[in-house]
Amino acid sequence: IYGVAFQTRDKLKDYLNFLEEAERRDHRKLGREMDLFHMQEEAPGQVFWHPNGWTIYTTLQDYMRRQQTRGGYVEVNTPQVVDRKLWEASGHWENYHENMFITEVDEGSEAGAHANAKRTNALKPMNCPCHVQVYNQGLKSYRDLPLRLAEFGSCHRYESSGSMHGLMRVRGFTQDDAHIFCTEDQIEAECADFIRLLSTVYTDLGFEDFDIKLSTRPETRVGSDAVWDKAETALEKAIQALGLPYEVDPGEGAFYGPKIEFVLRDAIGRDWQCGTFQVDPNLPERLDASYVGADGDKHRPVMLHRAVVGSFERFIGILIENYAGRFPLWLAPHQVTVATITNESDAYAKDVAQACRKAGLRVETDLRNEKINYKIREHSHAHVPVIMVVGAKEAEAGTVAIRRLGGKNQEILALKDAIDTLMAEAAGPLGAGEG
Ligand code: ZN
Repeated sequence: IYGVAFQTRDKLKDYLNFLEEAERRDHRKLGREMDLFHMQEEAPGQVFWHPNGWTIYTTLQDYMRRQQTRGGYVEVNTPQVVDRKLWEASGHWENYHENMFITEVDEGSEAGAHANAKRTNALKPMNCPCHVQVYNQGLKSYRDLPLRLAEFGSCHRYESSGSMHGLMRVRGFTQDDAHIFCTEDQIEAECADFIRLLSTVYTDLGFEDFDIKLSTRPETRVGSDAVWDKAETALEKAIQALGLPYEVDPGEGAFYGPKIEFVLRDAIGRDWQCGTFQVDPNLPERLDASYVGADGDKHRPVMLHRAVVGSFERFIGILIENYAGRFPLWLAPHQVTVATITNESDAYAKDVAQACRKAGLRVETDLRNEKINYKIREHSHAHVPVIMVVGAKEAEAGTVAIRRLGGKNQEILALKDAIDTLMAEAAGPLGAGEG
C-alpha cells in the first residue's frame, strides 16, 4: 500500500487535473480514435502506421529534411543488416550486444561457398559505424570538413517487453540522425549552429520551452584530459554565446566525450529528452577515419553525433499528447472536410473537394444524409482543423462557409480565397517552395 500526500488542497487538485489531462491526451488512445497506427503481438515494439499516422510522419520528415538541407547537411542512406565484423570493430558487439537483433544466414547453399558457411549479422542499433564507412570512401582533406552526413536511419534495439510503452519506447524506430565530421576547432561553431536549428524546430512544432544539460567527463573514460578540456570548453562556450541557460551534469558524459542533452517541456509540464549533441573522438579512431590537414599530414577528425527529434516514433507520440490530437493544419492528416447541408449540394461539394485536392490540401467529403450540426460535431471530435460547410446558398454564390476547429463562428469566403488562405497555412513554418 502506498499513498501520496499534498501540502494544500490546491496542489492535490492540480495533481488530479494533471492525471486527467494526461489520460485525455494519451497517444495510444488518440492514436486509436484518430486511426493513426496500431501495434500487435507479432511485431512487439514496432509500429504499423495507418494512412493518417503516416501522413503526419512523412510531413514531419519532409519538414526535417528541409531544415537539414538549409543547415548544410547532406543526406545518405545505409544498410540495415550488417556483418558482425563491423560491430566488433566499432565496439558495439562487445558493449551493446544484448540490445542487438542478431540474424544468422547460412550461405553454405550458395555456389562456391563452404558447407555450413554461417554468417552472423546484426540489425543496426545505430547508424554511426555506417556513416564512418561512407566517410571513409575516398581521401578526405581539411577542405571537406565539416562534413555533415544525415540519415533518417531506421534502427532496431531490443528492449524488454516490460519497458515498452506505445510509441514512447519501441524496438524499431527511425532517428533524425546525423554525424558531423570536423576538426576540434570546428566543434564550437557546429554546436552553436545545431542549437539554433534545434531551437527553431522545437518552436515550429509548438514547444516554447527546453532545458539544456551539459554532461561532462565520467570517471571511466578514454582520451587525454587535454582533449576533454577542449571539447567541454567548446560546448560550454557555444551555449554561453547563445545566451541560453544550462545546467552541468558532472560525470554524466559518454566514456568517449562530453554531450549536451535537450529536454522539452510539454503542454502539461512533463519533460522529454529528445535532442542530443555528443563529441566523439573515439569512433573515428576505432574505424580509422582520417583527413589530410593543411600541413599535408594525416589527422583524425572528430565525430559529432546529433539528433533533434530523436526517434520519429517517440516524437510523434509526444506531439500527439502535446497537441492533444489537435494538430496544426500543416501536420493534420485530414486538413479539410467538405460537409453538405442537404443532398442538393452534393455536386458542388464534390467540386469544392476536387479544387482543394488539386491545390494540394488533404480533403474529404461528408455527403451523408445527416444534420449539419451532427456532422460538424463528429468532425470536430475527430480533430479535423477545417470544415467547409456548403449548401444551396454557397453553391449558388461559389462560396464556402469555413469553420475552424474550436472556433465558434464561421467565415464565408469565395472558394478560391478560401483555398489560397488554407494553402498558405498548410505550407507550414517553412513556407512553400524548395529548400
Ligand atoms: Zn551516432
